[in-house]
Amino acid sequence: MQVARHTVVSIDYTLTNDEGEVIDTSKGAEPLSYIHGTGQIVPGLEAAMTGRGVGDSFRIRIEASEGYGERDPDLVQAAKPSQFGGETPEVGMQVRADGPDGAQIFTIVGVEGDRVTLDGNHPLAGMPLTFDVAIVGVRAATAQEVQHGHAHGDHGKDH
Ligand code: ZN
Repeated sequence: MQVARHTVVSIDYTLTNDEGEVIDTSKGAEPLSYIHGTGQIVPGLEAAMTGRGVGDSFRIRIEASEGYGERDPDLVQAAKPSQFGGETPEVGMQVRADGPDGAQIFTIVGVEGDRVTLDGNHPLAGMPLTFDVAIVGVRAATAQEVQHGHAHGDHGKDH
């Protein structure tokens, strides 16, 4: 069976940046399963998967625009420490705050005196991504999986 819209595809993958550093990998864990054609993986990788089959392995480098998007400077905002509801803001903390398109998750990227810097960009935005992928499973999605918008276990059982 070929990878096509509404197939459940299972992949082993390793994601690296242009410096060759591993950002994410399925090694040592279960393969990642997703429903193809529904935007569950980044667009550049999804496009590269179409028409492939079990046993295929490939490497692809995709630009940020086909990955997690370009960085949006409007999503970098300043706040005051007193705006964190009594909590002490620390670099790396994730908080919910109002962005240009409504409430969303921001990461605190800087705390300097009275100025806290928040970044609402995806951590991988603005970055070319290289995926090493091995396809280990392709099957038709069940109606229930399509309805739920996610892959279930090996045999399409609900969870
Ligand atoms: Zn479900």
